[in-house]
Amino acid sequence: MAIWNLGSINIDHVYRLDSLPRPGETLASRGYAEGLGGKGANQSVAAARAGATTHHLGAMGPGDDWVRDRLAQAGVDMGQVARLDDQATGHAIILLDADAENAIVIHPGANRAIDEAALTDALSALSPSDTLLIQNETNGQVAAAQAAQARGARVIYSAAPFDLEAVRAVLPHVSILAMNEGEAQQLFAGIPGDLPVQGLLITRGAHGAEYRDLATGQVHSQSSFRVTPVDTTGAGDTFAGYFAAALDGGADVPAALRLASGAAAVKVTRAGAGDAIPTRAEVDAFLA
Ligand code: ATP
Repeated sequence: MAIWNLGSINIDHVYRLDSLPRPGETLASRGYAEGLGGKGANQSVAAARAGATTHHLGAMGPGDDWVRDRLAQAGVDMGQVARLDDQATGHAIILLDADAENAIVIHPGANRAIDEAALTDALSALSPSDTLLIQNETNGQVAAAQAAQARGARVIYSAAPFDLEAVRAVLPHVSILAMNEGEAQQLFAGIPGDLPVQGLLITRGAHGAEYRDLATGQVHSQSSFRVTPVDTTGAGDTFAGYFAAALDGGADVPAALRLASGAAAVKVTRAGAGDAIPTRAEVDAFLA
């Protein structure tokens, strides 16, 4: 029972502006914040804060020790995150205007330079009761999913950012496919017919989430908790990490959906991504 997450680690640089710059324009920022982000890092923090033993698999550039420290403080094992001297740590430049409209540039850097042989090696330690998480912000998903599948482990794939070719390649090695509503629409348009997975998890923002067991046809639905949203960044990752951790801990699907929905609801009441993901105690208090 452990979670292995092959995932991106980003530093989010967030700049507040009156308006987004036009081509050729230079603007001074009204505010700046630096935080932990990347879908992978967010999901690792969520899984660890939910209480699962969580090993992150990935890569960073030199320096940026605060990022390693912050993930480790959240309870994530960072022992298998390589340091690549010729790559920058992944980062995102996030511009927000007065209406919270955004423009974002992501530099994947080390996130897309992960050594696939080392990955396969690390995953040879998996047991059938373990879970592999993957998303679309790294390289190596197919190799990792194949290795985990060969060990009989559960593979949960967040197909985001959506990329049809990536999904096609990874899907035969996936147990549970997790998507938001927009990604699900793109998936069903691109791959009509039966999907070769056991379960589909679809989240719908304030409108809830559902899990479809494709073997039995059973559908489990969960409404979203009513909260006043402050920042929905990382809500999907909080949901995915908590859902995976709950299943890893032996919860059934309805219990995992409820816990994940509570965790994501608390997250949307807070600004930030990885740093704003609640602890299990905070989620339990919210759900009590
Ligand atoms: P993001 O890209 O913002 O991280 P996403 O698009 O991947 O999120 P969503 O479906 O928007 O995923 O949200 C994931 C989950 O977060 C929802 O199923 C719900 O449980 C929770 N959530 C999101 N927005 C809200 C909200 N406004 N109120 C309550 N819960 C919310």
